[in-house]
Amino acid sequence: MKFIFTILLTAFTSFSFSQNIDKIINAKEVARIETILSSDKMEGRKTFTPSIDRAADFIASEFKKSGLQYFDGLKSYKQPFSMLKATLISASGNIKGQPVDANNIVAISTDEDLKFDENSGFTKVVIDSGANFFKEAFGLLKENKKYVVLVNNSFAKNFNRLKGFNRESFEAKEPVVFVLTNENPTTYHFEIKNEITSSALANVVGVLPGKSKKDEYVIFSAHYDHLGIGKPDAKGDSIYNGANDDAAGTTAVIMLADYFSKLKNNERTLIFVTFTAEEIGGFGSQYFSKQIDPEKAVAMFNIEMIGTDSKWGNNSAYITGYEKSDFGKILQSNLAGSKFHFEPDPYSKQNLFYRSDNATLAAFGVPAHTISTSKMDDEPNYHKQSDEISTLDMNNMAEIIKAIALSSQTIISGKDTPARVEKR
Ligand SMILES: [Zn+2]
Repeated sequence: MKFIFTILLTAFTSFSFSQNIDKIINAKEVARIETILSSDKMEGRKTFTPSIDRAADFIASEFKKSGLQYFDGLKSYKQPFSMLKATLISASGNIKGQPVDANNIVAISTDEDLKFDENSGFTKVVIDSGANFFKEAFGLLKENKKYVVLVNNSFAKNFNRLKGFNRESFEAKEPVVFVLTNENPTTYHFEIKNEITSSALANVVGVLPGKSKKDEYVIFSAHYDHLGIGKPDAKGDSIYNGANDDAAGTTAVIMLADYFSKLKNNERTLIFVTFTAEEIGGFGSQYFSKQIDPEKAVAMFNIEMIGTDSKWGNNSAYITGYEKSDFGKILQSNLAGSKFHFEPDPYSKQNLFYRSDNATLAAFGVPAHTISTSKMDDEPNYHKQSDEISTLDMNNMAEIIKAIALSSQTIISGKDTPARVEKR
């Protein structure tokens, strides 16, 4: 009797469950949110512009409607932080008393006024001809130590590309000064002047506290920034709307927040976060990852580009790093009997697992995976002005978002805990 009763009860709950889910997660709601996020008014949501703030305000207003709480220690849904950026004013120097051309100096530095010579505690390194130039340069930059790097003239063609390393940074860092020369001097002197600006940016985060397992987090995330406004394409369109990349994922996060807040049965704490600055280096997710204890993060569903059909067609998506934990298997087992299927990432050569916002938490051991449908070898509007809502499939998106909601059930309830991934 009990056995039959359980089956009947299960059949009944899943029936009413799927009835409810269609009311909350459907193509009309997908279109409502997508239309706003990918509209020309949002001007491509570029980091450090007022247009991305408009997108953040919209996401926050949706989180508020769903009744989410603020993340630990925050006074609103915005999780603000700032980054330093150096703009070169001048560079000069001499080697053995001979002046060095300013074009032959690239300083990666957050100092306004940097003056140094052979007695200033800089370690001198030579990158000789035949070396793996960028690999060595990058390795030195990662160390956060004072270096003066003498780069052989054979790298003259690529020397200027070192300027690309002069990116935003979270905090002041030790200077690394590259000099194009075949000399290996014992005496030298350099002076570099920079303008240092600090710019504000923000993730948008909302929380649905767990009923019994408050200290175990399940994270749903996407990035809401995109590329902004560029040159006009052949049709005269200059706005990179980023409807698929990643207004689609952001739409999913907003809708999942609404769905789970209406369901209100999560035993674990759910964190909904939309990241800034993914396109310029993943800074939003890096900052977020430092604000939570990764040991408490049980799983992360990062959602990237789910607006087009996957290579398997409708009702399917892939999971990056599928083999690194049993996250994908858990999701799929929760969908048993449905027409939806998750697959391992078929573009493994593209290293997608480490190319999106799941990467930082994954490096800490969190089963943090990205769910996507993007055909990385055949997505004609990827990073183009033409990434518009008209190229997306609202019905299929709704099915994917529903599949994420349903497949996460046992993780949210605390029944399943995906295996940790190997730390990096
Ligand atoms: Zn992108």
